[in-house]
Formats: sequence, structure tokens, C-alpha cells
Amino acid sequence: MVKKMNEDFNVIQMILEQIIKESIHFFEGLESRAAAFQPPTLQRDKLPVEGIGAMNALENFKEKYAAFLSGSAGSRYLGFVTGGATPAAIAGDWLVSVYDQNVASTDDSVAGKVELETIDMLKELFQLPKNYSGSFVSGATMANFVGLAIARQWFGHQHGINVSQQGLFLLPKMKVVSGCAHSSIYKALSMLGMGRESVQSIPCLPDREAIDISRLREFLRELKGEPCIVVANAGTVNTVDFDNLREIVKLKDEYTFWLHVDAAFGGFAACSPKYHELVDGLDQADSITIDAHKWLNVPYDSAMQFTRHKDIQVEVFQNNAAYLGNSIDNPEFVHLTPENSRRFRALPAWFTLNAYGKVGYREIVERNVEMAQLLTKRVAESTFFRLAAPTRLNVVCFTLATEGITMDVIHKYLDLLKQDGRVFMTPTLYKGTPAIRAAFSNWRTDEDDVEIIWDALSEAIKDMDRK
Ligand SMILES: *Cc1c(COP(=O)(O)O)cnc(C)c1O
Repeated sequence: MVKKMNEDFNVIQMILEQIIKESIHFFEGLESRAAAFQPPTLQRDKLPVEGIGAMNALENFKEKYAAFLSGSAGSRYLGFVTGGATPAAIAGDWLVSVYDQNVASTDDSVAGKVELETIDMLKELFQLPKNYSGSFVSGATMANFVGLAIARQWFGHQHGINVSQQGLFLLPKMKVVSGCAHSSIYKALSMLGMGRESVQSIPCLPDREAIDISRLREFLRELKGEPCIVVANAGTVNTVDFDNLREIVKLKDEYTFWLHVDAAFGGFAACSPKYHELVDGLDQADSITIDAHKWLNVPYDSAMQFTRHKDIQVEVFQNNAAYLGNSIDNPEFVHLTPENSRRFRALPAWFTLNAYGKVGYREIVERNVEMAQLLTKRVAESTFFRLAAPTRLNVVCFTLATEGITMDVIHKYLDLLKQDGRVFMTPTLYKGTPAIRAAFSNWRTDEDDVEIIWDALSEAIKDMDRK
């Protein structure tokens, strides 16, 4: 019986209007909502026998949970690298659920074509040439997984093995070379059967998170022609450092390697003429990861994987089934990523790119960097804090100026800050120093926020002294 569903659908306008009301209420309260919450312990409800209908479900949710949601959509959530959501992106995202398309292919709805158009627009935004293809996945971790899966297949070919058919067993151990790989690279390698231990860390330049090119060259030379996979960084999470992609690309003339670039958020440097040289050489990578739920400011979850080797990608991800169709010249999305059925994830990106264009993204990037610099100035001038690293783009990496700072002290301080609620930041260990990261990637964050953030930081220091 679908009685309750019918009843709800008859009043769908009322339900959606109620959702609009709740949304407006949320946005109006976002400024004063705590940036992050230690959630309370709550009783878990049982599955109802008779449902209560959509309106009552909404009321229930509001009563029980809504107050304890974090303000991560707001302007002072500086933890991890957490983008907000632009108004147009939210509009697109709502419609994704309403339209409920399955973007596994491009031949039963226009939705797939919209994804292709969105990918083309993004290639323009990141100045990637025509020979790249791309698709949406759920996050940079998945984009790294896809890029490394294609790399793995390529590595197999170098040894005359088709990994997608024969597995890894006949291959020598793959070497994955990186200066400062993101944790998700290790996770992807674990999922891919290549193993976390396949990572060979190459030293970085002094006081940097960028790979020492001469050490990389030395490593490649010692491989004596054995192929490997190089994972380069375009924006590390602690200090937003960039490997010298141009120099790494040059090494390809002499050595055989696959170049995967993790540009999860650093890729957005391409949006501003002030910073685009940081990603010079990105257009020569074999595979690229860029997140959308970070600096593109679309709602979770969304990222893109790009590659110049779609033919190899299809070998890995093809989902052979007669009824699904499989044109090698123009493979459907179902043959390109881990998912078979796929959400219309491109739509929020399409909306926001159309709504704000190149100029809009240049402004978001430049403004976030400016705000990071404002906070940097405050930190540098203060007696209570000191910078742990220079601020290269949108992340301020700093620490307390006390002698012998420990991770415990950082956690205690960040807990006080979380209790205060005006700002949320996350801890890190940078070159052995316990530190704090403040990552700016929300379109809303402005000078007033930086003032409030500074007040909160300063007051938490006083609270520390009192305890
Ligand atoms: C955030 C991030 C990731 C992981 O991204 P998710 O979207 O959380 O899966 C990978 N690499 C870098 C450099 C990142 O900043």
C-alpha cells in the first residue's frame, strides 16, 4: 500500500514550502550557529511500523536533530578544506533529487550530456586541453582511486599484463613515488591491492612540502627504466605547497612514469592570474583529481577525475553487460568510474558555473586567499601565536607560541575554540610541530569574519591560561 505516499504527494507543494521555510530559517541562523558541535548522546528511534508522513518526519527531525547540526556551510568553519555551497549550486542540488536521473549513460536522457558539458566547462576553468576526458565522482578520494586505477592498468601494460583481466599477481611490485602524498592516496592504494607500502617518499625541499626534483630524478634514474607512478601534489593540506609540475613533466622525456596530480583544491589556483603559474604543467598530467565540494562550493559530495587515457580507463571500469551497451569510441559513464548507477552530480556544478562564470571563481579564490593573508598578519604580529609555515594560498598553518608545545595542548585549545563555537579549525602535525590549520574556502567568508575569528582565537588563549 502506498497510501501515505499518495497522501504526501497530493500535498507536495505544502511539503516543499515547508522545506523552503526550514532552509530560510537555517540560513538566517547560520551566522550565529556554532561552527561545529560535539553532538549530544541521543536515544535512537526504532523503525516505525506505520509511517508518520513527510511533514511529521520533518517536525521530528527539527525537534530532535536540527539544533545540533554544525555550521559547516557557514563562513567560519575552517576545518579540513570545507567549501560552502553557492546559491546556484544549492538550487541545482535540490533539483537533482527532484529530477532523480540515473546518469549511467547518455542515451535515455539529456542528463549525461549536461555532465559532458559541465566537464568541458571545468576543463576551461582549469585550462586543460581538449584531449582530457572527465567524470564526476563522490570526492577527491574516489578521484584519486580512479586515477591510480588507470595508472595501475598502464603499469600492467608496461609489463605485458592486463591487470583488469589477470590481476596483480604476475607483476613486480609497483612503486608509487611522491613527496608528500595525501592520506587518501594510501587509502586508494589499499583498495587497489597495490598496498600502502608501495609509496616511496622522496624528500621535499627544505622547509617545504614540495618534492625535491633532484632527488626525484635520482630515484627515477636508479629504477633503470622500470616504470613507476608519480603522484604529484598541487596543494598540500597543511601549507598548500605545490610540486613543480613543469619540472616533473620534463622528467618524462627521460624516464617512464605515469603522472597523477592530486589537485583536490589547489587546482583552483588556475582560476586566478595571480596564482595560475602554481599549476603550470597540470595540462601534461596523465590523470588529475579535483574536488568540487571544496573550492567549487557545491554541496557534498562531488569531485572530478580527469585523464588523457580514457581507453585505459575503460579497460578498468567497463561493466560488460549486453543491455548496457558498450561503444569503445564513446563509452558511457557506466564504463568509466566505480559506480554503475550514478547521481546527476554534475547539475549543481553546471548551475554554479553558469551563474558565476570564470570571474566568480576568480573572485572566490582571490578573496579566500586575501582572508587567509589577513589572519596570517594577525598571527605573525601576535605574541600568543606563531606561524608554523608561510601562508602560500588559502590555508594558515600556525601554532601556539608557548615553549614545548604538544599535541595535547593543541587539542585542548581547539576544544575550547569548538566550545566557543565562533570558529572551527583542525589540528595537524607539520614537520614535527603540533599545529593548527585554518583553511579558507567558503565564498561567504569576509573581513568581518576574520575579526570574529581573531577575537575567538584570542579569548580561547585567555581561557587556556585560566585552566
Ligand atoms: C580533501 C583532499 C583529498 C580527499 O578528498 P575527499 O573529497 O575528502 O575525498 C585528497 N587530496 C587532497 C589534496 C585533499 O585536499
